[in-house]
Amino acid sequence: MITDSYNRKHDYLRISLTDVCNLRCSYCMPDEHYAFMQSEKLMQPKEIATIAATFVSMGVKRIRLTGGEPLARRDFQEILQRLADLPVTLTLTTNGTLLHRHLDQLINAGVTGLNISLDTLSQDKYRLLTRRDQFVQTMRNILAAVEKGITVKVNVVVMKGVNDEEILDFIAWTKHTPVEVRFIEFMPFDGNGWSGGQVVSEQEILDLISTKYTYQALHRALQATSNPYMIPGHAGSFAIISTMSSPFCAGCNRMRLTADGRMKNCLFSKGETDLLSALREGRALKPLIEQNILSKAEKLGGQFGDESFRELDSDQLINRSMISIGG
Ligand code: SAM
Ligand code: SF4
Repeated sequence: MITDSYNRKHDYLRISLTDVCNLRCSYCMPDEHYAFMQSEKLMQPKEIATIAATFVSMGVKRIRLTGGEPLARRDFQEILQRLADLPVTLTLTTNGTLLHRHLDQLINAGVTGLNISLDTLSQDKYRLLTRRDQFVQTMRNILAAVEKGITVKVNVVVMKGVNDEEILDFIAWTKHTPVEVRFIEFMPFDGNGWSGGQVVSEQEILDLISTKYTYQALHRALQATSNPYMIPGHAGSFAIISTMSSPFCAGCNRMRLTADGRMKNCLFSKGETDLLSALREGRALKPLIEQNILSKAEKLGGQFGDESFRELDSDQLINRSMISIGG
C-alpha cells in the first residue's frame, strides 16, 4: 500500500487527461488567455495506462478520470479501453456537455457512476457562469445517464451572490430526480479570484435548507470527501463538500496525476513529482511515488494555517489553477 507518514493508505488515484475544456468556469480557469499545455507534454494513452498500472500494482483500487474536460480529449475512447482492463473501479468527473457521445462506451467499460458539474438550473445563468451555451444539452445528458441506470452526482460549486440563492431550487429538483446534489465550498486556486467572503459554508447551506426542509444526516465513511444528507420523500439526496470550513484530510486516500504526468499528493500540495519524464527516461516509478507520498502534509497541502478560512490570503498560496491540476 502507498502509505504516508501519517499512516494514511492511498488507494484512490485521480487522473487528469487534459487541461483543455469547452467551458470557461471562472472559478476554475484563470481567463481566456490561459496557456494550455503543449500536446507533446501530455501523457499519451499508453503512458497513462502504464503509470496507472504501476499505481494499481501498489494497491490502487479506484481511478477517477478528470480534467479540464476529460471527454474533450480526442483519444478518450482509447484511454478508456486501456484503463478498463485494469482491476479497478473506474469513474469520471465531467461537465456533461459531451456525454451523449460517450455514454454507451462508458457503460460498456464498466463505469457505473458519474460526477457531472452543473452550478445552476437556469439556462441564462449557465451561460454567464460557463461563458458557453450548453445548459440544455448538459441537462439532457444528466437525465439520460440517470435513465440508463448510472449513479449520478451533480457537483455544484456554491458562491455567495452568484448561485447561493439556487440551493433550495436544487433541493426541490431532487424531489423527483434521483441524483445526489453535492454542494461544494468554493476553493482558492491560482487565478480564480477567490476571497473568503464568497465561500458559502456547510453550516450556511444547512441553515438555508432547514428553512424549508427537514433533512437527516447520513453516515459518512472515513475516506469520504462529502457529508451526505437525505430528505424524506425525495428521490434524490444531497451532500456537502466542506473543504474550507471543515476539511476531511484525516482519512484522505487520494493522489492525483496531472495531464502532464506530475504526481500531486493533495489538491493543495506545492510539490509535484514528474512521473512522465521518469517513464520516458526509463526510470523506475515506484520509488518516486513512495517518496512523493512521504512528503504529504497532514492537512490541505500544509498551506493553510490555523486562521479561519475567511481570513485566508489566497495570493500567498502556491499552486496551479484548478483546470491544470484536475479537480
Ligand atoms: N470538467 C469537469 C467538470 O467540470 O466536472 C472535470 C474537471 S473540474 C476541474 C472538476 C470539479 O472541480 C468540478 O466539479 C468543478 O466544479 C470543481 N471545481 C473547479 N474549480 C473549483 C473551485 N475553485 N472550488 C471548488 N470546486 C471547484
Ligand atoms: Fe471546464 Fe470543469 Fe473547469 Fe468548468 S470546472 S472550466 S467545465 S474543467
